[in-house]
Amino acid sequence: IYRGRYYNGSRASLVAAAQAAMSDYRFQHVLRVEEMAVRLADKWGVDAELASVAALTHDYAKERSDADFLAKIAEKQLDPDLVNWGNNVWHGIVGAEMVKDELGIQNEDILTAIRQHTTGAPYMTTLSQIIYMADYIEAGRDFPGVEEVRALAFDDLAASVGWQTGHTLAYLIEKRVPVYPGTLLTYNAWSVEK
Ligand code: GDP
Ligand code: FE
Ligand code: FE
Ligand code: FE
Repeated sequence: IYRGRYYNGSRASLVAAAQAAMSDYRFQHVLRVEEMAVRLADKWGVDAELASVAALTHDYAKERSDADFLAKIAEKQLDPDLVNWGNNVWHGIVGAEMVKDELGIQNEDILTAIRQHTTGAPYMTTLSQIIYMADYIEAGRDFPGVEEVRALAFDDLAASVGWQTGHTLAYLIEKRVPVYPGTLLTYNAWSVEK
């Protein structure tokens, strides 16, 4: 599937870059996200190479220091409110800039899917929905309802996005952790009965 359209190198070299950027347990998660993302891409008519590159890079920045993220927010003049958040919000939104600058990936569909993979967004392309869902339902995930939402992602992708967003929001509220405003916008767009 790799023809070097989105990354200047082979799949093996991108896998090696991902592996070098993170712990083994997270790297294994990334490989499982890739497998699920390619299956969803086949199902929903998205280019498999596009899905593979996005999946292999979605958590590229997850183990970077807070100082690295704060420096990138300043360098790229990103939304100043980002400094009030933390790794969970940064590794996608700010991490996409590291993927662009360090791995040379320029494709905006891929960069946007990385940006949106944790919080979602009111409008998501099919690729963004696939990465958001593959991250949540990869074969190593285990939580109540995981089998149902896995099936739903292959039956009604948008409904599965709504399912994840509703459950994630309920989980954040249950734990009394701050909800990123973008997550609320995603909930209103995807998870509310119309
Ligand atoms: P991972 O990187 O593969 O572990 O998965 P994600 O990138 O999807 O999520 C990372 C963490 O961010 C998870 O623990 C989510 O529950 C959490 N998260 C998702 N949305 C929000 C939010 O709006 N606010 C905060 N504080 N955390 C969030
Ligand atoms: Fe992530
Ligand atoms: Fe996720
Ligand atoms: Fe992930």
